[in-house]
Amino acid sequence: MFEQLKPQPADKILTLMQTYREDPRADKIDLGVGVYKNAQGVTPVMRAIKAAEHRLWEEQETKSYVGLLGDPAFSDAMIDLVLGDAVPRASVAAAATPGGTGAVRQAFEMIQYGNPKARVFVSDPTWPNHISILNYLGIETVAYRYFDSETGGVDFDGMLADLDQAQPGDVILLHGCCHNPTGANLNPVQWQEVIAVLKKTQAIPMIDIAYQGFGDGLDEDAAATRAVAAAMPETLIAASCSKNFGIYRERTGLLMAVSQGGANTGIARDTLAFLNRQNFSFPPDHGARLVTMILTDPELRADWAAELEEVRLSMLGLRKQLADELQKLTGSDRFAFLGQHRGMFSRLGTSPEMVEKLRADHGVYMVGDSRMNIAGLNARTVPVLAQAIVSAGI
Ligand code: PMP
Repeated sequence: MFEQLKPQPADKILTLMQTYREDPRADKIDLGVGVYKNAQGVTPVMRAIKAAEHRLWEEQETKSYVGLLGDPAFSDAMIDLVLGDAVPRASVAAAATPGGTGAVRQAFEMIQYGNPKARVFVSDPTWPNHISILNYLGIETVAYRYFDSETGGVDFDGMLADLDQAQPGDVILLHGCCHNPTGANLNPVQWQEVIAVLKKTQAIPMIDIAYQGFGDGLDEDAAATRAVAAAMPETLIAASCSKNFGIYRERTGLLMAVSQGGANTGIARDTLAFLNRQNFSFPPDHGARLVTMILTDPELRADWAAELEEVRLSMLGLRKQLADELQKLTGSDRFAFLGQHRGMFSRLGTSPEMVEKLRADHGVYMVGDSRMNIAGLNARTVPVLAQAIVSAGI
């Protein structure tokens, strides 16, 4: 049977990273893979995670199974972090999942299970895994206009016009904050307009929130998710703890299904448990337990929030420095959008040929669609990148 399997195309980012490792140039710059790195190029274990792990090692007495939905305390803590008091707790069903990807996958499965005809509207571009999982499950996708490479911002008129085509029961997938791969986001007024279209079309919103705390702050980054969940009869929310807790490999995420008034919360919860059972039974617990300990202990929580804020501000500082540097070199505001983008990524908005030129001539590694991981920079390499962008003629 194995010989009948199709060869899989190589992962573009992993191939790029391999080429980067083999590049002998000392001044090469890695803006590829999507993990946070500090000024020393290290993805650190956060202080609060270390402290929680220490405590867990001392206090944990069993590693027996927890439950199909994970520990309810993890759900409570994460629902509070993501949704605050936007909706009553009783209207939210939640399941712990293996990472944010697991939450996205289970959400898509729930959509398909509930309505095999549902189409999922995805931003153009979106995180490639969205498309690949949807294709794998055989769910029809509809792209909506999103990034405007002329301005580096959102093509909002195009987006609204495309979302307006949704039918009742279709799903509109939105990035809660820090859009990946573009870095371009909606403002609060635009979010209200999206909510109006959701109401008009009776499409169901699904929000993927993987970078809460990386953009404008923990509450600010959750504001759109909260507004949508409060306004709509049903909302699906896939949250990841990988980035904001720095626990990428622990595979920690939560899928939330908000049912206004709580009318369908019970059936949603049973369905989430059923779908977890079919795919992996019990979700991973280690990362979820650390997150719960941090969010429920005032001291650990304060330390975590402070370190996350340092991370956020360092990326914001690098963005501003890059935008300023390019302003100086070009004498124009053409690249000001880089300072306005939020989160770990920015799409430069240039051609694959230019991306290749940056790599070949300047040792700058970014994904072919010109997505840059801003955290791959530091104060010393920002001017080098700015010069490379200008020298390449972008
Ligand atoms: N959604 C988006 C938009 C992401 O960028 C990511 C991380 N690359 C995820 C979900 C999920 O990440 P993870 O599975 O590592 O938690």
